Amino acid sequence: MTETLPLARPDITDRERERVLEVLRTPDLSLGPRLPEFEEKFAAYVGAKYAVAVNSGTSGLHLCVRALGLAEGDEVVTTPFSFVASANCLLFERVRPVFVDIEERTYDVTAQAFEDKILALRRTRRGKKLKGILPVHVFGRPCDMPGIMAVARRHRLAVIEDACEAVGAEIGVPAAGGRSAAGKKSGTFGDCGVFAFYPNKQMTTGEGGMIVTGSRKLADLCRSMRNQGREPGGGWLQHVRLGYNYRLSDINCALGLAQLERLEEIIGNRERAARLYDEKLGEVPGIIAPPFEPGNKISWFVYVVRLADRFRRRDRDLVLAGLRQAGIGCSNYFSPIHLQPFYRRQFGYTKGDFPVTEKISERTIALPFHNHLTAADVDRVGETLKAILRGIRPGAS
Ligand SMILES: *Cc1c(COP(=O)(O)O)cnc(C)c1O
Repeated sequence: MTETLPLARPDITDRERERVLEVLRTPDLSLGPRLPEFEEKFAAYVGAKYAVAVNSGTSGLHLCVRALGLAEGDEVVTTPFSFVASANCLLFERVRPVFVDIEERTYDVTAQAFEDKILALRRTRRGKKLKGILPVHVFGRPCDMPGIMAVARRHRLAVIEDACEAVGAEIGVPAAGGRSAAGKKSGTFGDCGVFAFYPNKQMTTGEGGMIVTGSRKLADLCRSMRNQGREPGGGWLQHVRLGYNYRLSDINCALGLAQLERLEEIIGNRERAARLYDEKLGEVPGIIAPPFEPGNKISWFVYVVRLADRFRRRDRDLVLAGLRQAGIGCSNYFSPIHLQPFYRRQFGYTKGDFPVTEKISERTIALPFHNHLTAADVDRVGETLKAILRGIRPGAS
């Protein structure tokens, strides 16, 4: 019996364990010194002015929506090809997500597609309700933030960057390659950006997230709202606005600090694993590799391949079943947001509304991906995929 290859696995060392234990030896389990330290070091890492730690990426997105004043009746353009939280954060405030279909090559909503949708909405009565753009850096690959920011400025729209899958990703890396002093990190282009630290992400705090922004006002609002609407210097039972308990404990922050110190190493290991897959799967017919542009730095979150157009959803599901049977963890990233049952019910979406998103979603396969993946693991995945695909007659299943 061969060992099971997990889809994801956190990279935790003795350093992380020691840092967490240190906190447990103090009385400051929450709102202690690790919180500002984690925020300051994270802000410095991504190159943002302010960082506000929260207890999940979803909480971070929610606070950004509120801090930007988005409210019932407002509309925000975003992608249906994402994890459900990137649109749910709008629903929390009864803001309507307006989906725009993705581009086939990159899996992104292009700046042009956002612009076209915005122009179309502006010509209708709904144009006035449109308040923001919420782009997502899918799978750790940075999307075209310079282009999207230009659109946002032209139309005076707020921008929340969902960088939950893209800590460390960069745009505008010098062509020479290698270390990138000139790159600008994903999450730092919009009014605010949000990162997430669930255990399957590049770095983890167990559960956790981080908001980054260049605006003092937005940072202060988010800090207050994550802590029950309290203000700095105010009393513990003084609540100046509606707030939540979205705090990240010092135990989590200590884990985050240790992970942050190792983040470049972690991202480097993931890059190496992605290269192994690129090489191995280059020889497997019917497999389309993840998209990539030389000018940008991907921070690999998952390694998602796609089956060629001649395959159908049922073929893909056979591949997933075959991989699982061989002890290889895999998943179908993503399942389109507009087709989730409650989105269908609330907004009346049906199949065919966003054909490119649906076409891609029906053919994706996320393969085992983590920092310790070996060439032998990748070889096993590649050979298994090859054997499964040989047994499938496209479209006939
Ligand atoms: C992981 C993720 C989130 C949410 O993060 P949590 O910490 O799990 O709440 C949001 N958006 C995207 C695209 C994600 O992948």
